[in-house]
Amino acid sequence: MLARLIESVELAPEVRHFVFEAEGPDRLEFVPGQFVSLSAEVGGRTITRAYSLASAPGDGNRFELCLNRVPEGVFSGPLFQMKPGQTLEMKPPLGMFVLRQPPRDSLFIATGTGIAPFRSMLRAHLREGSPAFTLLFGVRYESHLMYRREFEEMAQKFSHFRFWPVLSRPEPGWMGRTGHVQAHLEEALGGRCDVDVYLCGLKAMVDDVRRILKGRGFDRKQIFYEKYD
Ligand SMILES: Cc1cc2nc3c(=O)[nH]c(=O)nc-3n(C[C@H](O)[C@H](O)[C@H](O)COP(=O)(O)OP(=O)(O)OC[C@H]3O[C@@H](n4cnc5c(N)ncnc54)[C@H](O)[C@@H]3O)c2cc1C
Repeated sequence: MLARLIESVELAPEVRHFVFEAEGPDRLEFVPGQFVSLSAEVGGRTITRAYSLASAPGDGNRFELCLNRVPEGVFSGPLFQMKPGQTLEMKPPLGMFVLRQPPRDSLFIATGTGIAPFRSMLRAHLREGSPAFTLLFGVRYESHLMYRREFEEMAQKFSHFRFWPVLSRPEPGWMGRTGHVQAHLEEALGGRCDVDVYLCGLKAMVDDVRRILKGRGFDRKQIFYEKYD
């Protein structure tokens, strides 16, 4: 299947939001949290990389991704050079990083572009009567808080959704949470052990939070994760 780029916009330094259209199907079927595999020829070799869907299902054959340009990255560099109308090979959505059914009160923890699957899940599942969700979102700088307005609006609209941005390198003037997401885990859990925890981002954060949760007696079946590296 081919994916045609419709547009891409800068979300933060070295991070862009991409809108693609899958050529062929009228509707791209997927479950929030899943990823697509994109492939292209780079330097004479076929390179394939996975990217979480950042949009919710239901927008026909359109889908959205949130990508950062990895320094010296083989694939993300060329992706950032793509112009609207250009195409890439794609494989249909796959992956097990999806909300448990039925969903329970959950804590979502993202760092960087690990926010993508949570945007999809929240857009699809957050509504009156849904379980309570907390999103702990860690980035370095305030300007890296992708989709901040959207999450703030969700938090204003739904009292059972909490959006907690965390900056590891806050500039003067930032009055919010600081440090690593791990430092805010206890407060987000509020003493509860009956919530599911979903983690997405780089290995270091995912492994560290899993270790803390296991130490707190969390069952491995309550912990869901996707590692990007
Ligand atoms: C299931 C899955 C879903 C993913 N979803 C996304 C997504 O939604 N958005 C996204 O930007 N990336 C995502 N990734 C990472 C993506 O697949 C690539 O690894 C990333 O774009 C780097 O590829 P590259 O060829 O440019 O870098 P390479 O030349 O392969 O170099 C990779 C180096 O960059 C590191 N790295 C990998 N991913 C990142 C990252 N996101 N930020 C910083 N360093 C990184 C690796 O540890 C490695 O050292 C996902 C990975 C997986 C496995």
